Amino acid sequence: MNDTIFTKIINKEIPADILFEDDRVIAFKDINPQAPVHFLVIPKKAIATTNDIVAEDEALIGYMHRVAANVAKDLGVAEQGFRTVMNCNQDGGQTVYHIHLHVLAGKALGWPPY
Ligand code: 5GP
Repeated sequence: MNDTIFTKIINKEIPADILFEDDRVIAFKDINPQAPVHFLVIPKKAIATTNDIVAEDEALIGYMHRVAANVAKDLGVAEQGFRTVMNCNQDGGQTVYHIHLHVLAGKALGWPPY
């Protein structure tokens, strides 16, 4: 898979407002927030889309959700609530082809999302 802007964030080649990082994932604020709180959780493993997740990634994907909740707790928005979204391909609105969990919070979010 070709490198994306998120590989550059993982490799510290471009700056990001990092909220959490370990050997498997990194969480950072979205550069164009769509809610008062909007951060992304990405795996350090480069997986292009949800369609490319394989069996060996299952624990990693679950871990991304745990990190999302832990960072939301740290930011004080977990109890009130938040939304996680992973966009896939064109109709899903994906623009960066390295999977990422959007975490949106800080206000009552509308549904459906269109
Ligand atoms: P997608 O549309 O692929 O689901 O979401 C990509 C997200 O990445 C968008 O919300 C966009 O604002 C965010 N994004 C794109 N480039 C950068 C960047 O260089 N830094 C940060 N922090 N976020 C980015």
